[in-house]
Amino acid sequence: MPADTPRPANPAPPAPDFPWPEGKRSAFFLGFDVDAESVWLGMDRRNAERLVTMSYGGYEARVGIAKLLELLARHDAKGTFFITGWTVEAHPAACEAILKAGHEIAHHGYWHLRPEPGDDETMREEVERGFEALKRVLGLIPVGYRAPSGESCVALLKMLRDRGIRYSSSWRDDIRPYRHLLPDGPGPIEIPVNYSLDDWNFGITHRMSPRALFSREAVLSIWRDEFEQTHAWGGVTTMMLHPQVSGRPMRYRLLDEFLTYVAGFDDVWWATGRDIADHYERCEAARGV
Ligand SMILES: [Zn+2]
Repeated sequence: MPADTPRPANPAPPAPDFPWPEGKRSAFFLGFDVDAESVWLGMDRRNAERLVTMSYGGYEARVGIAKLLELLARHDAKGTFFITGWTVEAHPAACEAILKAGHEIAHHGYWHLRPEPGDDETMREEVERGFEALKRVLGLIPVGYRAPSGESCVALLKMLRDRGIRYSSSWRDDIRPYRHLLPDGPGPIEIPVNYSLDDWNFGITHRMSPRALFSREAVLSIWRDEFEQTHAWGGVTTMMLHPQVSGRPMRYRLLDEFLTYVAGFDDVWWATGRDIADHYERCEAARGV
């Protein structure tokens, strides 16, 4: 193959076959992306003056986060909240409430800028400012990362690994966790995501993000089917939920119903991203990797 031919294939070996803890058949990972207004600023910085556009994201701190924390507490569930640096600085009280409730906090960029291959400087600034904000406001150093707007590249994975990120949850190419293989050695673990489990695709509409809204029945049908087959295959059902979507009244109700449904399976391991990374690394050590 000529050197200039694009090589999109992921060089990482297939996901290893390891057991889930306590004999469970699959894992269930509740991931929330706390973008607040930064997702709209990341699309166009001029949105700072477009106050109705900003108010889509503003719903998170005013209503959505608190409602989801109440929902998780009622289900006795712990999740991972991927928070942008901008959000943690703009809404410290809402983010402190997430931490205080015992959930994992992870990295989600600063301005919610989509990582752009070739623009290493912007990627580096997004990564470093995100770390700084989480440390300054919440006093923590995250070990997980989810790419804003779902893009990734080798340079970004290296930056993350070199700064202590142990897992990414951004890629779409598996149903079980695997470890990235970078040109200079192992990269972070990947806990893959699935676009069918991203509430943004079903529950929000705006002129910059236009789509039809989906009914509760339609979303539950998709989510149940994804979950059941992922469970049968022994994979990880990774949710990608946003407080400005799933914190809305009707979306909250359907998430409540979906969590009740998943809780009906007694052989599912409910885990945060960090729990899954810890388990993966223990399994690697047991295999002598
Ligand atoms: Zn996001």
